[in-house]
Order: sequence, then C-alpha cells, then structure tokens
Amino acid sequence: MKKELGKKPIEEASLPDEIVIPLSQNLGSPCKPLVEIKQRVLVGQKIGDSDGFVSAPVHSSVSGEVVAIEPRLSFSGDKVLSVIIAPDGNQETSSFSGFSESEAKDADKVRVAIREAGIVGLGGAAFPSHVKLSPPKDKPITDVIVNGCECEPYIAGDHRNILENAEIIIDGLKIIMRVLGAERGYIAIETNKIDAIHHMNNLVSSEGNMRVVPLSVKYPQGAEKQLIQVILDKEVPSGGIPCEVSALVHNVGTTIAISKAVREGKPLFERVLSVAGPGIKESKNLKVKIGTPVNHLIEECGGFKGEPGKVILGGPMTGFALFDLSVPIVKGTSGVVVFPREMTIASNPRACIRCGRCVQVCPVRIMPNFIGQYIEVGMIDRAEDADVMDCIECGLCGYVCPAQRPLIQLIRHAKAKIIADRKKGGS
Ligand code: SF4
Ligand code: SF4
Repeated sequence: MKKELGKKPIEEASLPDEIVIPLSQNLGSPCKPLVEIKQRVLVGQKIGDSDGFVSAPVHSSVSGEVVAIEPRLSFSGDKVLSVIIAPDGNQETSSFSGFSESEAKDADKVRVAIREAGIVGLGGAAFPSHVKLSPPKDKPITDVIVNGCECEPYIAGDHRNILENAEIIIDGLKIIMRVLGAERGYIAIETNKIDAIHHMNNLVSSEGNMRVVPLSVKYPQGAEKQLIQVILDKEVPSGGIPCEVSALVHNVGTTIAISKAVREGKPLFERVLSVAGPGIKESKNLKVKIGTPVNHLIEECGGFKGEPGKVILGGPMTGFALFDLSVPIVKGTSGVVVFPREMTIASNPRACIRCGRCVQVCPVRIMPNFIGQYIEVGMIDRAEDADVMDCIECGLCGYVCPAQRPLIQLIRHAKAKIIADRKKGGS
C-alpha cells in the first residue's frame, strides 16, 4: 500500500493560519508555558518546559504572535493546554548553535542538548530520547538499532528519510553509540524498501561496527521488542524494557533529530510524515511544522477523494481515528491516513465466539479475548494479572476478530487506568 508513495520526495508543507502546540506531547508531566499572550515568538524558541525527568520541552515551529494559551482538543480526545500562535510568515529563527567535535564527545553534554531540543521518539510512542540515552549504570547498552522498518501500511516518511537523509541517520547513530559506549549499530529496513537498503548499504560499508539488516515484510516487526528479538535473538522480559537485554532502539526520524540537535542545536519543531490513503486526492510525504492542524494538511494534498469515512492520525493499525480535523500534528505523528466512506464499515461489536484468532496473532502472546472481557466488566486487576501492560497496541487482535470486538480500545482504556492508578499510588 506504499510502493508509489515511497517514490515521492519529501515536500515542505505550507504554513497554516494558526499553529496549536500542545504542552503535553509525551509521557511524563506536562510542560508549563514560558510565554504570554501577545508575546512575539521565533522559530525554535522554547515555549514550554517541565521539571519532570521523563518530559521534554516544546518549541515554537513558526515566528509569530501568541494569541491564546488555552485547552485545545488533542488526537486522543482529551483537551490539552496548548499555546496558539498566529504565524507572521517570516519564519525568523531564534539563535541556536551546535557542538564542536570535542563537545560532541561529551556524553553528558549531548544528553542535555537532546533534552533541551525536546527530542522524543518520532515513531509514535514519543518517549523522551534523553531518558532512553540514560540507562541504569548496571545495564550497559551494547547494541543500538535504528528502526527503519516502517511496517504500517500506507505511510512512507521513514522510507523517504532513509533515501534523502542517510548520512544524517548514520551520524545520529554514531552519536547515540558514543553516548552509550555501544559496540554495534544496526539499521533495520524491510525488503519492500530495497532502494533504501542499497543506498544505506553503500554508505555504511566502510563503517566497521555498523551494518544494514534487511528484514522480511512483516507486521508488527517495527515494534521495538519484536525488532530486538528478530535482530539480536533476545527477548525483552515481560514488563521489561530493552536495556535489560543491553539493547536500544531509535526510529529513523529520531536519529535524524538527534544528529541535528547535536550538530546544529536545532530543536524538534518539524517532522516528516505521510498524508496518504485511498480517501485523499494526492498522497504526499511532507515536512510539517509541529502544531499544524490536520485539516490544513488535507487541503495541502488536494482535499478528500469522495466522501471521507475515516481519518486516522498515525498508521492505520496503531493510529487514532479523529472526530475533529482541527487537532494538531504533534511530535509523535507519523502520518495522516484517510479512508473513503465505502471502505469503512459501521462498527457492530458482538459477543466473543471464542474462535481464538486474536490469541493466534498476538505478537506478545497474551490473551486479548479474555483481557477484553475482564475490562468490559471492570475487572482491571484481572486484566493486569493477564499482562495487559505487555500489549504493544499493534491492533492485530481487533483486525482479525470476526465479532468486531473493540479489543484495542478496551486495552488502551485499561492501560491508561493502570498507569493513572500507579501514579496515584506512587509506584
Ligand atoms: S493489540 Fe492485541 S494483538 Fe497487539 S499486542 Fe495488544 S493484545 Fe496483542
Ligand atoms: S478473535 Fe474475537 S471472537 Fe475470536 S476469540 Fe478473539 S475476541 Fe473472541
């Protein structure tokens, strides 16, 4: 579903009339605004920050005037405090500068620079990168994987990034390996991106400690635990994180952002994503300013083809269906996928018929059928005992379910409740 889009170069999206920057774009405590209404801001200026370790600051993606600081709808359906900026069109940039070669070798300075640049995982999870680059002392990282699998249908932004920014990806990988003292670097690419594999292979052939790993086309191979298993033959334990098997995974876009933060001091205020799907007039790979409303990007691609049925933020398997197209693109948005009315079916969930298909496909080997039933009757503790927190939200269980059970929605609800309860309990 992405062969043709993979051939289209990245284009710069135009500026919208209004930019909406949510002050909470990742796990961890939300940022507090650092600007006031009517204040003029510049591109790359820090406009929100938090004291929390698992947090990253946010920056303005345009020059212009702050016109409001108020709760606005986010893709998850929640209202999130956001800074609203009216762009002036000049794109005047705040001053930022990168490290010298000797400074770039100082791991602590690099971690601070990555945090200050607001870098989070661009593959979707939006986990702050400086936290990932600070593993516990007793869990050293030996293997770093750059994730270029992009296994979700329709989207092709990572594919284009590999073709157009391969040298920067390699530089980012070198920086990450140096910060962690890692021995080996891998760049994982699925074989439906053969041009990207050849291109990257040519560039890393002279790097002794790096190699490109071509992988068969398989969903959800791009999930970090699955990728570690397939490349390193190690299983991240249930409830664990990759550093427990001495590994770390960063997405292609994140690796580019890390290189730019260190070499140029550039904050994360724009990203590459795909606007695609059979319901959009012209699918494109776009470099988009963070905070651009989805409806602006739909217009940028010529509008809808026919009557829209579903607009999804992210990939079609793991993304969120939107009910309001004014929501902004955030750092973790990898795509906007549009399906026409005739390709969407009215949801008609029925009782589980115990066919076992969801269990068969689940890549983390949990029991979505039972977990879904526990959650439906409010037995969240039973769902937790059944390892619901190991779910990687790949969406496969719901995709194969003949009874159209809303398994991923139930699971997301339970995970959010468990996380909220853990925060309240301080564990
Ligand atoms: S979304 Fe479903 S199939 Fe995927 S990991 Fe979670 S429970 Fe398993
Ligand atoms: S796929 Fe659906 S119907 Fe089949 S066991 Fe799983 S939840 Fe039940």
